[in-house]
Amino acid sequence: MKRAFTLTEVLAVIAIATTFAAISYPVFSQVRRSARKSECISNLHQIGVAISMYRSQYDGVEAGTPVEMGLPPGETLFSTVTDGLKCHGTASMGEWPLYSKTWPEPGDDQASQKFWAAFVNRYGSSTVMMFDANHQPSAGPVSVGWQNWTVLGLKLDTSVYAKTHRAFPLTLSWWTQ
Ligand SMILES: [Zn+2]
Repeated sequence: MKRAFTLTEVLAVIAIATTFAAISYPVFSQVRRSARKSECISNLHQIGVAISMYRSQYDGVEAGTPVEMGLPPGETLFSTVTDGLKCHGTASMGEWPLYSKTWPEPGDDQASQKFWAAFVNRYGSSTVMMFDANHQPSAGPVSVGWQNWTVLGLKLDTSVYAKTHRAFPLTLSWWTQ
């Protein structure tokens, strides 16, 4: 005779499966978060190499205004260089592009151009030119407040690092604090 499962056995199996799912979910989501972060570190590095090549074709100077340095305007950068290299982080930054650049546009005011030039003169190739703020260590809603932010930064020398500091990196100075 074929033996059927009793209700108790079925409930026990469901309870065990639910417990296992509850235990493993944070582990899997942690693995997924760390995989997405690795993907972006690689993307940012590739974007950095592309920008470097663009600048050398342009004969850009080591330090100066973005135009003198041969840094591409946002439109050129985001339509060609970062095409296909997108962040799959969970936090949505709304009006910010997934990867943000720190240098001013050619048409921006003189003060921003001078500030950039002075900053690069001081910090050289460790100046962060692009960043990705979509990889907070904990899940949940984010706000542009004074909590700690973990941000991936791409330096002019094409290396990428993660920095955690309070507030959102709205200015270049955030990277030197
Ligand atoms: Zn990302």
